[in-house]
Amino acid sequence: MGYKEQELALPTDYSEEQLKRKIQKSNGISNFSYSIIKKSLDARKKDNILWRIKVIISSDSLKGKYSEPLSLEIPYEKRKEKVLVAGSGPAGFFSAYVLQKAGYEVTLIERGLDVDSRSTGIESFEAGGDFNSKANYAFGEGGAGTFSDGKLTSRTKSIKRERDFIFDSYIKAGAPEEISYLTHPHLGTDNLKLIVKNLRADFEAIGGRIVFDCRLTDIETVSGTVKSAETSRGRMDFDYLFIAPGHSSFETYRMLIKRGVEFRNKNFAIGSRVEHPQSIINLAQWGHAELAGVKAAEYRLTSQTDTDHPVYTFCMCPGGTVVPATAYEGNNIVNGMSLYGRDGEFANAACVAGVNIEQLTGHESSPLETLDWLEALERAFFGISPDYKAPAVSIKSFLAQEITSPLGKSSFPLGLTEYPIWEALPPSVSRAMRHGLQDFSRKIKGWDTGIIIGLESKTSAPVQVLRDETGLADGFDNLFIVGEGSGWAGGIISSAADGIRSAMSLI
Ligand SMILES: Cc1cc2nc3c(=O)[nH]c(=O)nc-3n(C[C@H](O)[C@H](O)[C@H](O)COP(=O)(O)OP(=O)(O)OC[C@H]3O[C@@H](n4cnc5c(N)ncnc54)[C@H](O)[C@@H]3O)c2cc1C
Repeated sequence: MGYKEQELALPTDYSEEQLKRKIQKSNGISNFSYSIIKKSLDARKKDNILWRIKVIISSDSLKGKYSEPLSLEIPYEKRKEKVLVAGSGPAGFFSAYVLQKAGYEVTLIERGLDVDSRSTGIESFEAGGDFNSKANYAFGEGGAGTFSDGKLTSRTKSIKRERDFIFDSYIKAGAPEEISYLTHPHLGTDNLKLIVKNLRADFEAIGGRIVFDCRLTDIETVSGTVKSAETSRGRMDFDYLFIAPGHSSFETYRMLIKRGVEFRNKNFAIGSRVEHPQSIINLAQWGHAELAGVKAAEYRLTSQTDTDHPVYTFCMCPGGTVVPATAYEGNNIVNGMSLYGRDGEFANAACVAGVNIEQLTGHESSPLETLDWLEALERAFFGISPDYKAPAVSIKSFLAQEITSPLGKSSFPLGLTEYPIWEALPPSVSRAMRHGLQDFSRKIKGWDTGIIIGLESKTSAPVQVLRDETGLADGFDNLFIVGEGSGWAGGIISSAADGIRSAMSLI
């Protein structure tokens, strides 16, 4: 059997038949099979937007050779060591899953609730009920990655084997196969809720143990070895401890710092969400309000402002919803999510300024002080709107620095409180955001008709653990800190890959 890799250009609403005919005609072959390995939208010419599709064709009439891509090999043997993993987000789950596959005795603990109870908690909060500290957008089964947009893109280099393993696991757990070849793969919360449940079932079927509503509260360390852990369900013993707390778990960071785990400050970002009707973004990006065969248009904008901070958009959610994403009662932050269909009325994205803590405070700051500073900002936004509505203002008003035009409609489920957000953000961030918003108004037609919503403070962790390339915390011989909370990863795929890498180095 011979093989060939080929790139084809097809209309956005192409059919499988058209794709087959094109392969047949361009290669002069009739007996063949094919699989798509890459698919990306080419919207450079608005009057001729196309899918660019890369396929591998196999046929007796072809001569080329195929080499199987290298995959993650997890060597199994019955091992006596016990591993405790704290945090069931992408990093914690995938490290636990890989370690269990390798034969360790793994217990995964999660401070929040299982995904179904988590859904109920979030729905009840958004229907006006109480905030639930164990069931929200940050805490609960699957971590921040579950009730998310579910974009599976990652800018982290050299994680191909890990990424293939993650995609393969997701597909086996119910994800659409297209995630393996789309350049911008996307799952949406509806798929993710099912996937995390199926992955949990698989983890348990191979002997893994998972305990919900179980928070790691303290660790006992002796001469660089963590001897045991205190949890909200009692003491737990192990040989190795993996902590994958995400970047929302303030008290976990504080506990680790108190117990001698070393962190340092890192650059992070502060800003708000921007929201527009999706039709405005479609028109600006495609020249049409709709495009057959494509769900909703995306954007990614950057502005090198002449202020102290670059401004950029991040985690854009086409057809998505802005959500109340706090992990703690009394804090108020926002984030964005979507469903697989991406057919909501609005488009949203984080619009943030890149910062470091010294720029904001004007003095050196310890990691603990950085966390205090960030938490105080999240509390200040709650102070503006203590009912968890999101403070918001029109982009036109933000640009004018006075409330000049009314708020438009929004997807935010709890409602908006009109507020001059530029006064609530640190002054240098407000200044940079204004420059950025002006710049983006030149790049996207209709941009200034959007609104600015709430505080976006979780695009990346503000602190970073000191650890070696295996994820082992400096000065410890059995403590791995992984994922976004480590400050070395961000996003679903890079956090999951970080967890896998540390697991593989232990194996
Ligand atoms: C609304 C939203 C949308 C997002 N959309 C995307 C997207 O489209 N694409 C993307 O790549 N990224 C997205 N992200 C970011 C992504 O979810 C995170 O980068 C990723 O989940 C980080 O993985 P993690 O495992 O390191 O941490 P997390 O997913 O944050 O998981 C940490 C887990 O640890 C638990 N935990 C914390 N402390 C303890 C403790 N002491 N004891 C026990 N358990 C503990 C938490 O409850 C949580 O479940 C989104 C985030 C949010 C909030």
